[in-house]
Amino acid sequence: MEDETETVCRVCGYDDEVFWEGGWPTAAICSCCGNESDVGDASVMGLRNYRGYWVGHGARWRSPLAERKQKSQGWDLLQQMANIPVQWR
Ligand SMILES: [Zn+2]
Repeated sequence: MEDETETVCRVCGYDDEVFWEGGWPTAAICSCCGNESDVGDASVMGLRNYRGYWVGHGARWRSPLAERKQKSQGWDLLQQMANIPVQWR
């Protein structure tokens, strides 16, 4: 049904690595929100839950290295969240 390769995190919109491939989760963990594809983001309800929790705790980065790199380039959370595919918002 889906053959797409998803490199954008469904939870936070961070474009990092392959999270879903051909409709299957890769178990990749997002450097930004720390979500693992499969555990929380297989359903829109599950990922909204995770997203709300993550933002509610200050939208903390999982990887300090990625955080430093992104913030030095003017990272903006809301701009990043605009990358979230429409069906996962
Ligand atoms: Zn993420």
